[in-house]
Amino acid sequence: MVDHARERPAAVPRRHCRVYVGLGSNLGDRAAALRSALRALDATPTTRVAACSTFHETEPVGGPPNQPAYLNAVARLETDLSPQALLARMQVIERAHGRVRTVRHGPRTLDLDLLLFDDLVIDEPGLIVPHARMWGREFVLAPLAELCEIDALRARFAGETHVR
Ligand code: AMP
Repeated sequence: MVDHARERPAAVPRRHCRVYVGLGSNLGDRAAALRSALRALDATPTTRVAACSTFHETEPVGGPPNQPAYLNAVARLETDLSPQALLARMQVIERAHGRVRTVRHGPRTLDLDLLLFDDLVIDEPGLIVPHARMWGREFVLAPLAELCEIDALRARFAGETHVR
């Protein structure tokens, strides 16, 4: 882990849907790519990045041999966008970071996955939510668990004046 979990103050009005997005990079300045993607997600209309896990260094799963290690994180977003509109925006952000789809599971400067969108279940061409492969992936579950743990603790102590 190379960063610290952050919870942003609610300076921007709360949006209606709670979304978890997985971020990954294994090419170039990986931490810079993740931070830049977080800024781009936060700049998305009617959307804010409410929290982000620490950055986890992980071994590549699948794909060609001898890939560099990944840096992974999970962010919690609040948005008024539809799942389809948010995914489209995520794909624009991937492309803006130089992502070119060549080899399946091959190295990438930025990979964004829509993991969870409120409690919606979506199964349509081009969009499956919850993300179809998230449950067996430690590089998704570990940072996600970090955020859920923080959320659970905040909920438990909500109303206590000394908890910010
Ligand atoms: P990947 O190469 O792993 O980034 O997969 C991208 C492809 O998966 C795109 O064609 C998406 O339309 C599709 N896809 C389906 N469900 C999701 C999801 N929940 N999040 C991101 N991509 C998805």
